[in-house]
Amino acid sequence: MLPFKLVYSDAYFLPIGNHVFPAEKYRRVRDRLITTGVADARDFLEPQPASDQDILLVHKPEYVQKLKTGTLSAREEMEMEVPYSRDLVEAYWRMAGGSMLAAHHSLSDKVSINLGGGFHHAFPDHGEGFCMINDVAVAIRRLQRDDKIRTAMTVDCDVHQGNGTASIFAGTRTASALLPSSSVSTVDPPAAAPRGKMRGAHAGDVFTISLHQHNNYPLWKPPSSIDVDLPDGCGDDDYLAWLDNALSSGLRQFEPDLLCYIAGADPYREDQLGGLDLTIEGLKKRDELVFRVARARNIPVMVTYAGGYARNVEDTVTIHANTVVAAKEVFG
Ligand SMILES: [Zn+2]
Repeated sequence: MLPFKLVYSDAYFLPIGNHVFPAEKYRRVRDRLITTGVADARDFLEPQPASDQDILLVHKPEYVQKLKTGTLSAREEMEMEVPYSRDLVEAYWRMAGGSMLAAHHSLSDKVSINLGGGFHHAFPDHGEGFCMINDVAVAIRRLQRDDKIRTAMTVDCDVHQGNGTASIFAGTRTASALLPSSSVSTVDPPAAAPRGKMRGAHAGDVFTISLHQHNNYPLWKPPSSIDVDLPDGCGDDDYLAWLDNALSSGLRQFEPDLLCYIAGADPYREDQLGGLDLTIEGLKKRDELVFRVARARNIPVMVTYAGGYARNVEDTVTIHANTVVAAKEVFG
């Protein structure tokens, strides 16, 4: 049995028909973890859907109302890039509940993984890029509301910039003695990766880090606390150097009570929507790096899966399953 909890529900399946997003990946990751003996049935928790009140901690009432009544405009539905249905709304509410549950359990078990979620392109008032509800933001706001945490850090390693998350947590600076007034933009890039670019901005009670391919969706990238704009074709070694640098830089400036790791599988070299060159082994090292850093500093980690569009869905499943393996190795 694992020393931490995995969160999953069959209700995570996204009813979006034939789509580049492999809606069945969640169930397949769960099955893979069980058939390979990495986890067993007792390691899994079944989440309840988030309540509307939870969703409203992040999202605008008008937007939530449109989702609940099926009154999005054609343009709003197109921007979301997934076909609206009541069942789809249910699936996103359920995954937000899963991220809340994983965040809650990470506080006692040091780590917890939601085999879903990571919908970082959802904004308070609209969805885009396959993302309806920003489940990670909902989980953070709920734990803050319950006084379980005061601060959080998001570490977004999906190949696409976390525009929704950056936007939600921009300008939320609260009284915090931990925050220096300086920006991180003066930090030197790692010698191994001279071509990328790190940008810094101020953070509030949630510090956001995003490592992503610069030449990719979203075109408009609202500033995270730290954005690492990676060049096309960035490989394992450069990527890991940038990640290490961003984590050290972020944790020099900010002391989070919770780290939310958005473990996108789409920096993979065979991804259909990504242009980086990471291998499956490199992605596992990425997971290990995040877990080691968090463990060394005793920061609880909540994990979500976000994107993954490998030509062969089996590769996406392997990358996501490896995140659990990496957690087991580091926290086991
Ligand atoms: Zn992505």
